[in-house]
Amino acid sequence: MRNQLEIFKSKLDGLNEKDQSKIMDAAQCAKDLHKDQKRASGEPYFIHPLRVAEILIDMNMDPDTIISALLHDVLEDTNVVFNEIKRRYGKEVANMVEGVTKISILKAKSKSIQEAETIRKMLLAMAKDIRVIIIKLADKLHNMGTLEFLPEKKRKSIAAECLEIYAPLADRLGISWMKAELEDLALKHLNPSTFDYIESYIASKKSEKKNYLKKAEHTILKTAAKEGLRITASTRAKHIYSIYRKMKSRKRDISEIYDLLGIRILCKTSNECYTLLGIVHKLWPPIEGRFKDYIAMPKANQYQSLHTSVMCYGGRITEIQIRTEDMHSTAEYGVAAHWIYKGTGKRVNSDIHPIINRFKKWDGAKSGSNEFLADIRREFLRDSIYVFTPNGHIIELPKNSTAIDFAFHIHTEIGAHTVGAKADGSIIPLNQALKNTQVIEIMTANSAKPHVNWLRFVATTRAKNKIRHWLNQHEENLFIDKNIIAKKKKPPKAVAEKRSRLL
Ligand code: MN
Repeated sequence: MRNQLEIFKSKLDGLNEKDQSKIMDAAQCAKDLHKDQKRASGEPYFIHPLRVAEILIDMNMDPDTIISALLHDVLEDTNVVFNEIKRRYGKEVANMVEGVTKISILKAKSKSIQEAETIRKMLLAMAKDIRVIIIKLADKLHNMGTLEFLPEKKRKSIAAECLEIYAPLADRLGISWMKAELEDLALKHLNPSTFDYIESYIASKKSEKKNYLKKAEHTILKTAAKEGLRITASTRAKHIYSIYRKMKSRKRDISEIYDLLGIRILCKTSNECYTLLGIVHKLWPPIEGRFKDYIAMPKANQYQSLHTSVMCYGGRITEIQIRTEDMHSTAEYGVAAHWIYKGTGKRVNSDIHPIINRFKKWDGAKSGSNEFLADIRREFLRDSIYVFTPNGHIIELPKNSTAIDFAFHIHTEIGAHTVGAKADGSIIPLNQALKNTQVIEIMTANSAKPHVNWLRFVATTRAKNKIRHWLNQHEENLFIDKNIIAKKKKPPKAVAEKRSRLL
């Protein structure tokens, strides 16, 4: 058997010597640190970080990301400390490794899959560097591919979590191939019989469909050439989970779903995409309600393409996707495109990538990685923070929220009787802004009551209203309106007496 590290090294051919030796040093380091550990499969543990790193090599990610992937489990599973990683591989790597570790800890804190959307947002909020999420997704992808060695119950819960959290996260970041693979692997474990049924059905129809699609493809290419368009076309099989979803939403058997396979056409410019759409619709009649223009109206993750379904040869409904080559690479790489590394020691000029440009446009003409990430974060998160209750439930609050906001969010009575708060077990001042992922505990006392000063340091409207309401009801000499707090003037006694006499 060839040495695992040698096999790994052969995948680094595209990189320069210096990067290669740094990466190999990290690979050896991971091997040494994990030396006695085994995976559930019985394999040596370090095969896992090696495979995760390979996924990222295939995505052309930069050397720091690959090194972080090699070391992604060492903080959690071994005694190596953060500073040692920092000294050997630099601060960026150390921070990324720590980021991936934090996500694992976070997962252990959270108890409910119902909170999936919030968890996804929190992961993005935590990862100061989006590459942390990309590493985590690659980690997930390898783990999902080796689930069969775990007991069934554990397998199912990991698969459900993958479907609820990680596949949508890949989708949100626009890495479509990863989303598709994660979904298929999840379905395989959650619903094995349906997975096998769909898989074997597709296999049985493959050669028949292939011939017919080749014919359709050929017709499109020929017609486009006549119009002077140079395009490329490819046949595309829908991934299994998306067929499963169609069967469920349309309540149909797979034999009644026609667009299992489709054709994808890549053009040079977006104008050519529309020209080609016209050509296709002239060749075969389009099916009503199935045309979508994601070029004019991109999806939230910047996906762009034209989609149409046509009544093709023999009355077969066929989905055709038309996009430019740039749009295609955005669809495949998503935000990962920002770190594509061509081995020359330089990142690809980010200006040429459409997804980067679009993010930039949202915020003037700023450039640089930090601006770019800030834009993504703003878009994804709007300014929220995510904290835990002692029971492991996640609470979303606006940025700068304090323990008082948290308490009123839980319950008005808790808010109104708050005397103190703890974050991760230590007492914090009530006016201190909460931080992402803290576990917040509120201490109450029956005698405690809201103080007018609380209005100065709460961030939620809910807490503000509750405090105002309470003060208006209980503090007789305060007058509180939306923005004003004033001492109520008592009517002078003499006047009041005079009045009562007059009556
Ligand atoms: Mn791992």
